Amino acid sequence: MRIDIITLFPEMCEAVLGESIIGRARKAGAVDIRCRQLRDFAFDKHKRVDDSTYGGGMGMLMMAEPIALCYESICEELGEKPHFIYMSPKGKTLTQSKLKQLSEHENICILCGHYEGVDQRVLDMYVDEEISIGDYVLTGGELPALVLTDSLARLQKGVLSDDECFELESHYDGLLEYPQYTKPQVWRGVGIPDVLISGHHENIRKWRREQSIVETAEKRPDMLRDAALSESERQLAHERTTAKSPQKPQ
Ligand code: SAM
Repeated sequence: MRIDIITLFPEMCEAVLGESIIGRARKAGAVDIRCRQLRDFAFDKHKRVDDSTYGGGMGMLMMAEPIALCYESICEELGEKPHFIYMSPKGKTLTQSKLKQLSEHENICILCGHYEGVDQRVLDMYVDEEISIGDYVLTGGELPALVLTDSLARLQKGVLSDDECFELESHYDGLLEYPQYTKPQVWRGVGIPDVLISGHHENIRKWRREQSIVETAEKRPDMLRDAALSESERQLAHERTTAKSPQKPQ
């Protein structure tokens, strides 16, 4: 997959996307991420990309033409139109199932807004969809674009190693992940569930599935409505949703 990010702050995006798992995956060629400086497509000598809004109001708005020129240059490079996403608090909230859908695209282009946002005409002309990362407003689209890029990139083949497999993680199958433990086996007098050191793989699998359901019932009961559960699993979920949460030690 190739992801082009149109931004006024490419260094900010590179700083994040050059590190850790995504940074390594980029170097290995598992995902191609390019951060585009929108000012390179400004058409005046001051490299201006924003202007005041018609109808009055305090803030500035990103102008249509530099965005259109930048997007068109990406289309030309690719020889086709990428799926074009504008990060926006007005968009549909990002979910894991949306990510699965988006990961089918070979080319994605992400526009980061700034100031008051973007001239509506360029959105109407080119953007395929608007995506939000939650019902709150940030100063710019870079953090949302980084959230989208990271979560999309990790679904690409070769980005995660086998033991970091995304299919076992929260949200992938509509449930939250089961609790996990590492060494030492006893920490401050607290042990771990016996089943995890039993070496019995089927019992461990069953315990994890059950704990996933319990975790989801206690923390995100809203997710259970769409989860694929057997009759007995649904009964367990119901019991845990209605049970009182355990008390934390004082
Ligand atoms: N005036 C806009 C409104 O009320 O809908 C908000 C503009 S915001 C200050 C500047 C930019 O940040 C937006 O153009 C968008 O790209 C980005 N942004 C802010 N909050 C976001 C969110 N929750 N999800 C995705 N993008 C967001």
